[in-house]
Amino acid sequence: MARFTALYETLEVTADCDEAALKKAYRRLAVKFHPDKNPGDKTAEEKFKQISHAYEILSNPDKRKIYDEYGEEGLNNRGGGGFSSNPFDIFNDLFGGGGGGNPFESFFGGGGGRPRNPNAPMRGADLRYNLEITLQEAFSGINRKIEFKRAGLCQECHGSGCARGTHPEPCKRCGGRGQVGISQGFFTMMQDCPSCRGKGSTIPKKCPKCNGAGTISIPRSIELRIPAGVDTGTRMRVSNEGEPGRNGGPNGDLYIIIQIKEDANFEREDSDIYATLHIPFHLAALGGTIMIPTVQGQTELTIPAGTQNDDMLTLRGKGMPVFNHPGSWGSHHVKLIVDVPKKLSEEQKEALKAYAALFDVKNSNQANADKENADPNGFFQKAKDFFTK
Ligand SMILES: [Zn+2]
Ligand SMILES: [Zn+2]
Repeated sequence: MARFTALYETLEVTADCDEAALKKAYRRLAVKFHPDKNPGDKTAEEKFKQISHAYEILSNPDKRKIYDEYGEEGLNNRGGGGFSSNPFDIFNDLFGGGGGGNPFESFFGGGGGRPRNPNAPMRGADLRYNLEITLQEAFSGINRKIEFKRAGLCQECHGSGCARGTHPEPCKRCGGRGQVGISQGFFTMMQDCPSCRGKGSTIPKKCPKCNGAGTISIPRSIELRIPAGVDTGTRMRVSNEGEPGRNGGPNGDLYIIIQIKEDANFEREDSDIYATLHIPFHLAALGGTIMIPTVQGQTELTIPAGTQNDDMLTLRGKGMPVFNHPGSWGSHHVKLIVDVPKKLSEEQKEALKAYAALFDVKNSNQANADKENADPNGFFQKAKDFFTK
């Protein structure tokens, strides 16, 4: 148990507190009594020195041991006491200040990161171009010339943004530093100068062509190869064709976003194609072959005998090319709709009647009659009664 407790009392902790509690107590008090927060207040300054001194000793396990046993006297005798350190150094050590930075910055939401230097090389912005193509173009792949606008160096001022015969001047507000101190309560934070937006220089007379921006919108056209198999949403990157970089930074990229126009005949799902085909009922019944359109051209489709309405047939390898897999193709799926003819010629009627006659209608009726007799009070009798009443 510590025999000396004055330093603990200064930090408002108990003598058996651990290191974390010690740190926490110091942090709280140091922020409270920091001279930046109490300008001109001598009492606060003295208090700040005292808590820094107490923390310096107690945060060192060796010194704390000696202090607990022999007090500050003991430390002085061993050459370890007194204000061996600048209280601000102790403070900065703990809060990660240092380097002349304001220790409150990181503590009060400064975020730690320094403001971006607007004069540093910066990559240009990416551009996006929506390209609509047909399904057939997506099938074969195409070369397409596209035209777009991107920023380019103003030829009038060569990017300086200054009118002819004038030059940028150091910003008067920040003296060319690009940063100004903003007082926020008890401390000062450095911020981008609002006059020059952190550049450190201003344009006394703007270039009339680019209005001081240094860049103008310049039309550009490039030839693109759209590979076979692209789909809606396919994103192609054309590197270096985005907005130009600033201060010597690289250009951004151009992204081509593909959109496939709706097709009248085909629906696409990945590399598969879906189509609907109407067939006459005799073809469905008898089976046979028929020529159908696919993205790959006219293809023969075999209809099996006894095909039903809504049956689906698949032609493997007759769909779209698989993107990035040369030589791979999806399937062509055909949903069959069996049509009942609406108009028949006399000849067709006769043929159908002959077909119908092949059904044993008599026997079918006899079968019903038999059921009727077997069940006189059943369903058939009731139905009969209903229709004869
Ligand atoms: Zn210009
Ligand atoms: Zn400025």
